[in-house]
Amino acid sequence: MLEHVVASDPEVARAIQAETLRQTGTLEMIASENFVSEAVLEAVGSVLTNKYAEGYPGKRYYGGCEHVDVVEELARQRACKLFGAEHANVQPHSGSSANIAAYYGIMQHGDKLMGLSLAHGGHLTHGHKVNFSGSHFEIIHYQVKPDTELIDYDQVAELARQHRPKVLLAGYSAYPRTLDFEFFRKLADEVGAIFMVDMAHFAGLAAVGLHPNPVQFADVVTTTTHKTLRGPRGGMILCKEAFAKAIDKNIFPGYQGGPLMHVIAGKAVAFQEALQPDFRTYQEQVVKNARQLASTLSEGGARLVTGGTDNHLMLVDVTPLGLTGRDAEAALEHAGVTCNKNAIPFDKNPPAVCSGVRLGTPALTTRGMKEEQMKQIGLWIVEALQHAQDSSRLDKIRGQVGELCRQHPLYASRAQAALAAART
Ligand SMILES: *Cc1c(COP(=O)(O)O)cnc(C)c1O
Repeated sequence: MLEHVVASDPEVARAIQAETLRQTGTLEMIASENFVSEAVLEAVGSVLTNKYAEGYPGKRYYGGCEHVDVVEELARQRACKLFGAEHANVQPHSGSSANIAAYYGIMQHGDKLMGLSLAHGGHLTHGHKVNFSGSHFEIIHYQVKPDTELIDYDQVAELARQHRPKVLLAGYSAYPRTLDFEFFRKLADEVGAIFMVDMAHFAGLAAVGLHPNPVQFADVVTTTTHKTLRGPRGGMILCKEAFAKAIDKNIFPGYQGGPLMHVIAGKAVAFQEALQPDFRTYQEQVVKNARQLASTLSEGGARLVTGGTDNHLMLVDVTPLGLTGRDAEAALEHAGVTCNKNAIPFDKNPPAVCSGVRLGTPALTTRGMKEEQMKQIGLWIVEALQHAQDSSRLDKIRGQVGELCRQHPLYASRAQAALAAART
């Protein structure tokens, strides 16, 4: 493993080996992360990285594309099959690129875009002022309700009728419940909007029907491929045939040059994995694990935003434990649990501090962890949060976390090689 990097560039090799040990030796609970298969890693590490292939299969601007054409066609067909889509563009370099191209495929500069605000669980690309989306378009933001912390569908309807947005957008990065796509579809039709869904977080759940599949309702659906979908880091756009030309044109030549063919190969491999029956079993376990973790945390005195979770993630309000999100993230990191601080709706702390942490179960579920482990991890998290200043207590949890990780091996031969290198 890595022998060529070790020989040619020991500094980078050391950093990769250290990262291998970090990933395998700690509990990865960032809700937007996952671990791809060895097959996906090999595809992404292949010679396809050398190939220029501007254009689309059969219509390239470079010679020698006959093999990468096969790969991209497989990725497109599998994506369509997985979600029941009419058209797929697998070239976006990231979720954000997918959103830029999708927006300009269906809107003009300055048009009205209506989406969930970042502070209430939306994404930067859904119209935040520091993002291109916030300056290129006129933004209308909807929110969650103060009492239930669920999306305020009455407000969504009111704002849509008042502003008549060109695009009505649904999707989230930090919302622990499913979405009512039927509501959004009807509303979009009523006000003459195009209905777009950004399923970056829940694509894996949607692929197997554990979250409503937005492709059945929306005109355009964007996603990342590296979150619950468990593919390589990248993006994708699915759409109705009527939008296919405009979407494709906006990815290339609109916003990107040559596609990352090695990553597209990784996407094809991941989609094939997602089409197998055990992918459904995996997603079911992701949801069961999230429910178990949520109930252990609330029994331990943490407050869960919306009171629980329907999907793979939860937002934990840590203020009842006398902590800020920033302090909680640091204490958990010390204890071997990686997560991110996150604003909760109507947060009283500034964004760099926050009142919550976001936790997700996709990555740990990939390691084979189930409810029993989630319960144990939940107890450790509660203990770490209750004793956030007690460094020896956090060290002790860190030791137990390491033991649990050894019981659920990940990338075994890579980890072994990294460990051997670290010892020399
Ligand atoms: C993660 C995410 C994105 C952005 O993905 P990148 O690949 O990081 O650009 C876009 N939208 C939503 C809802 C996300 O959660």
